[in-house]
Amino acid sequence: MHHLAGPLLFLATVALMEGFAYGAHRWLMHGPGWFLHESHHRPRTGMFEANDLYAAIFAVPSIALFWWGIGLGHGASYAWIGGGIAAYGAIYFIFHDVIVHKRVSHHYVARSAYMKRLVQGHRLHHAVESKEGTVSFGFLYAPPAAKLKARLKAEQ
Ligand SMILES: [Zn+2]
Ligand SMILES: [Zn+2]
Repeated sequence: MHHLAGPLLFLATVALMEGFAYGAHRWLMHGPGWFLHESHHRPRTGMFEANDLYAAIFAVPSIALFWWGIGLGHGASYAWIGGGIAAYGAIYFIFHDVIVHKRVSHHYVARSAYMKRLVQGHRLHHAVESKEGTVSFGFLYAPPAAKLKARLKAEQ
């Protein structure tokens, strides 16, 4: 394997995971998987919510890829992909659970245009706490807030 192939696989996986997360959030979690995701669109009563199970589910392919690649010796490429999935999970957790939902207390305030748009995008996702009629399903990319607000209005 070329010495750059691993890191490139890793970065491509992180980018592709955003597309996967968007699809899973829009069509699985706001679809047949709503029974778990619904807890995330209700006020949390304890430390955890049923929706946290998704994080555990999505960690399985990452662990499996590490095990297959390194544990069973099928090649480091698998581990780089598994690492990309794990890195996306960590980025998602920091953005979604820490920055937006403040499950860990902090004083960070979004200042860059990109971060402001991202935070606003996810707040607008929570503007409607129902299975249907909501907007902005991504986590590392969000359309401009004006666009999202117009779409929210059209959904009413
Ligand atoms: Zn949602
Ligand atoms: Zn959220």
